[in-house]
Amino acid sequence: MLYLDHNATTPLDPAVRAEMDDCLDRTVGNPSSPHGLGQEAKRILDRARARVAALVGARSHEILFTSGGTEADNLAVFGSVAAIPARRHLVSVASEHQAVRNPVTHLAETGHEVSWAKIDRQGRIDPAGLAGLVREDTALVSVMLANNETGVIQPVAELAEPVHAKGALLHSDAVQALGKIPVDVAALGVDLLSLSSHKIHGPQGVGALYVRAGTRIAPLLFGGQQERGLRPGTENVVGIAGFGKACELATTRLAADADRVARRRGEFEAALRQRLPQIVVHGVAAPRLPNTSYIGFPGLNGEALALLLDLLGVAVATGSACSSAAHGPSHVLQAMGLSYQEAASAIRFSFGREHTAEDIALAVERVCQAVADLRRS
Ligand code: PLP
Repeated sequence: MLYLDHNATTPLDPAVRAEMDDCLDRTVGNPSSPHGLGQEAKRILDRARARVAALVGARSHEILFTSGGTEADNLAVFGSVAAIPARRHLVSVASEHQAVRNPVTHLAETGHEVSWAKIDRQGRIDPAGLAGLVREDTALVSVMLANNETGVIQPVAELAEPVHAKGALLHSDAVQALGKIPVDVAALGVDLLSLSSHKIHGPQGVGALYVRAGTRIAPLLFGGQQERGLRPGTENVVGIAGFGKACELATTRLAADADRVARRRGEFEAALRQRLPQIVVHGVAAPRLPNTSYIGFPGLNGEALALLLDLLGVAVATGSACSSAAHGPSHVLQAMGLSYQEAASAIRFSFGREHTAEDIALAVERVCQAVADLRRS
């Protein structure tokens, strides 16, 4: 199987597995226990926290471990709003992942006011336009760093000054950006940043929320004092150790990986354009993640194409792994102004560091074969 769905999840890196195996092989205690075995577990958490912090330029105590990107997003949205009850307004973007869009929509349905910023045909926000939506009673502005479907990168750093000038908090979902492009909390000027382990060759079910020192958020869960009382419950020590190792690997190899994967993506798009000149590469004129290629096949159905590719041994997606076909074609492409039919013709290819030029050539062959089969049927 040729796996071209890295934005859904990535294969576990062998070094990450070794780190987790080592943890599992040892008897580790509860990191909150004062005895030796408990303190050994705490040291594992501390090391992982430092590694995650290093990848995003944060300090260790600013990293809170969660069960993944979804929980980090929910904690950022609900936690910040709950901490500032006097402010009843939020700003977010139509193309956000469901892990932000749905919490924000829930707040809109239960008494908060929400302004949704629009995106252009390339999937980019207009930072000045978005800043104009921020009000004196805005609690939170949430704008993802890179889109999971198009890979389009938003100019989050340009929002920090206008958002802070109104006393609001700036949150960014960096789940897809992490490990693919440099992510630095100081350069971005964010107060809150969501991260997930399984998009960077770490285990599933682990993530983190960066909370800038001094930022007030309220917990969603109530229990013990773990994670500074903001995320109570015994930590997933083995998973967190794996996440930490994945961050350490990403820190050292990000630049080389990004370079290589961008070249592979370039080869893929160029070869596909040559064979199928009618294809549309969404977001191509905007800054994009190096690994993502979201392609429209005019006149064809993306779901049918993805199914055929699966039968031909190539795993791809039609959009976010979290939205099913039952919900219709990509909300991101429709927010970019594409028609229902245009959005329904798209396939997302997301490449990884292990892909070779031969993999790319095979992918192009299989896509052309699937397109020809679908046209004949
Ligand atoms: N945010 C974005 C942009 C994502 O792509 C994803 C996963 O697809 C998530 C959040 C959710 O992360 P997790 O799967 O760790 O809950």
